[in-house]
Amino acid sequence: MHQFIDGEYRDGNGEEAQRINPATGEVAETIRHANTDDVDAAIASARRAFTEWSRRTPGERSDAIHRLAGELDKRAIELAAVETSQTGKSIRMSSGFDVPGTVDNASFYAGAARQLRGLAAGEYGAGGTSMIRREPIGVIGSISPWNYPLQMAGWKILPAIAAGNTIVLKPSELTPGTTLLFAEAARDAGIPPGVINIVTGPGKGVGEHLVKHPGVAMTSFTGSTAVGRRIMELASQTAKRVHLELGGKAPFLVFDDADLEAAAHGAVAASTINGGQDCTAATRAYIQRPMFEAFTARVAELMDQMIVGDPAKDCTDLGSLITHAHRDKVAGFVESARGYGARILAGGEAPGGKMAAGAFYRPTLVVDAAQDSPIVQEEIFGPVLTALPFDSDDEGIRLANDTPYGLAASAWTNDLGRSLRASKEIQAGCVWINDHIPIVSEMPHGGYKDSGFGKDMSAYSLEEYTNIKHVVFSQDRSSHKGWQNTVFRTTPPSSA
Ligand code: NAD
Repeated sequence: MHQFIDGEYRDGNGEEAQRINPATGEVAETIRHANTDDVDAAIASARRAFTEWSRRTPGERSDAIHRLAGELDKRAIELAAVETSQTGKSIRMSSGFDVPGTVDNASFYAGAARQLRGLAAGEYGAGGTSMIRREPIGVIGSISPWNYPLQMAGWKILPAIAAGNTIVLKPSELTPGTTLLFAEAARDAGIPPGVINIVTGPGKGVGEHLVKHPGVAMTSFTGSTAVGRRIMELASQTAKRVHLELGGKAPFLVFDDADLEAAAHGAVAASTINGGQDCTAATRAYIQRPMFEAFTARVAELMDQMIVGDPAKDCTDLGSLITHAHRDKVAGFVESARGYGARILAGGEAPGGKMAAGAFYRPTLVVDAAQDSPIVQEEIFGPVLTALPFDSDDEGIRLANDTPYGLAASAWTNDLGRSLRASKEIQAGCVWINDHIPIVSEMPHGGYKDSGFGKDMSAYSLEEYTNIKHVVFSQDRSSHKGWQNTVFRTTPPSSA
């Protein structure tokens, strides 16, 4: 059963679809998707649950989310195995990053739930005391992608419910498993039926219905920029608040004073993490000219050492990509780059033999592709890094900013002035200096430019899921208050 509505698993009433294990190409399970009636039922359940959940004290919500963190931790082995089998990512990634990251996120929001507060009261107008309240918005409709299904469930659900909202989440149709387990863990933690509902199915039918529904107060979306634009358009029909975490094309800027070995290791790890299917992955390396040859040679050497294979094995560095169609799209970018004169220094192919059945692709380094070519400008979402040289610092920073995206970036240098300049002038929601990828629950994640707006994680995200209300207590007991004279006068003007 692949719907979780009103605290229980249900069969969907929509179409049947087969989920394929991307590492083997075999059918893993058959899923009955939701139809629009199922989405309506999930929203109705979330609306019913809102009254009680939103009235709970922050401490009561915090206790429940603490118990959820414990339930997720108890299921760590199962969550990691399901995450790996549905996405093809390595088990080291699922068990070392996805699961502990989600447990930590739950612990963080259990604490943050008790920290949500408005500003202190004050007299900002004569005779009136103002107070700011932060209140939950209502039912949140969320839509998440396939690359980090469990972490995305956490990033969407936890701040929303910590702030007193209830939620209906639609995970990617390719990867519903760990999102459903998340909801089950919440039920076992004592979070009431209806606070968290999961509906599964395709974007067009199920997702669009959720976005357009008048019973949903806000849409929180993570996915591609193209779909994000469509979500914004649909949400405008009911003037909903939208929160959009979209695509990325992160630059990786290496100045000529950088530690070459550290930068090369950083580039390999940050460009191949999760098979490169990470919105913050390093995708465009710009290397100051004196270091270019040595850097690209070392990155190619390290990429060639990576073990691509069965994602369930602990020795595997890189599992499969999400689908065969996506692998072909990644390969297509590389093939067309060869066509316009790029050279491939590592990878550039899908492994053959027994591995041909899975959606595998080797870590790939591409040089000599022009800055305005598709492989440098567009989101590939695979283990592919391009590298280009630059001369002056000005040129490096200009190239780093030269795509429509602005989610994440890194600069590698031991020079204080260069690091301060890069952190200020690169237009991205996160800039790492001498590292690329690490995130923490306390710090915000979100984009500039076409990478969207709004923040996930951190106290900023909690605030996104609240309305700000201004309350004024008048201390003026007179029947006709002074300011009303500007509208209508009931006392004669003074003769003075
Ligand atoms: P996608 O945009 O194709 O799909 C994302 C979700 O939207 C899925 O659940 C899908 O079913 C749904 N969807 C698709 N069309 C829809 C429609 N018309 N109406 C409503 N819902 C619809 O993205 P994807 O391929 O699943 O994920 C990869 C993308 O996600 C990449 O672009 C990546 O950069 C982005 N991403 C961004 C972040 C971030 O934090 N900024 C994090 C992870 C992934």
